[in-house]
Amino acid sequence: MRLYSLLAAAKINLYLEIVGHRPDGFHELIMVMQSVSLCDRITIRSLGVDEIRVRCDHPLVPADKTNLAYKAAALVVERFPGVMAKLGGVEITIDKHIPVGAGLAGGSSNAAAVLVGLDLLWNLGLTQAELQTLGAELGSDVPFCVSGGTAIATGRGEQLDPLPGIDGLHLVLAKYESEFVSTPWAYNTYRAEYGDTYLADTQSWQARQSQVRSGEMVGAVAHRNAHALAQHLCNDFEKIVLPAHPKTAALKATMAELGGLGTLMSGSGPSVFTLAESEAEAESLAASLRAALPDPDLGVWTAQFISSGVQLGG
Ligand code: ATP
Repeated sequence: MRLYSLLAAAKINLYLEIVGHRPDGFHELIMVMQSVSLCDRITIRSLGVDEIRVRCDHPLVPADKTNLAYKAAALVVERFPGVMAKLGGVEITIDKHIPVGAGLAGGSSNAAAVLVGLDLLWNLGLTQAELQTLGAELGSDVPFCVSGGTAIATGRGEQLDPLPGIDGLHLVLAKYESEFVSTPWAYNTYRAEYGDTYLADTQSWQARQSQVRSGEMVGAVAHRNAHALAQHLCNDFEKIVLPAHPKTAALKATMAELGGLGTLMSGSGPSVFTLAESEAEAESLAASLRAALPDPDLGVWTAQFISSGVQLGG
């Protein structure tokens, strides 16, 4: 029996700008993505029968064909016909730590780990770029989740340009367990309210990309300037998600008052993070947040920036 254990890292968005609406129905985005040390553990084990099995005991995560980890394995089987008959099937066990439906790419990170794990289990010899191309078929965040670290993501989020890693930054993440944001709802609502501000053509999108690439946020990352980075945190989704989720808006306001480097909602939310310069500061901010909002519905985690998306072992 062969077995691989992988850590699948959550991501946060340090910058998320919605630029336009693409002919393929997706939105054109400019993002700065960052892997963080809040991880799910994915165990990939060979099976004697040609089957894909998913085990996950999280109540909000389906342990069936709709799980993104299952879909990742099914995609590999489809692209490498005969591999299961020759080498056996696979059991994928998901040990969930990343909050579900939080804007932290939990499902995408699991899919990325399955692609990396199956490449090893079935000796497929795929390059990272090939794994990312496969990942893009499963979801726009999957390619980033394969490589991780710090990157600019454009297109629908699948076109990646690595940025220098920002070592040593820590964060506090928080989410009300009862609050969820549907990503399709977030895009549709944003389009309904802000569609008239969209840039209309590819040329304008590229011009905007160039501006962002030479702008303050990317400059702050390139110079590893945590204070400048914190000042330029930006997420367009906040404009529609926070008004619709007053509890999350109040959470963000409370976190911002605690005195971290900077506070932002991640992705389409509703998780919110505050940056901190050290682990001790992050722990202290987390304790202050729990004291300020003593609500059993509030989940609070500390983590740090990391330089990889999927890690073997751990
Ligand atoms: P993103 O940031 O990529 O928009 P998210 O963090 O908001 O994603 P997920 O945690 O990936 O959201 O979950 C979104 C939905 O996907 C949930 O309703 C969940 O049931 C479903 N799902 C399917 N597979 C998984 C998985 N492996 N892990 C988590 N959720 C999954």
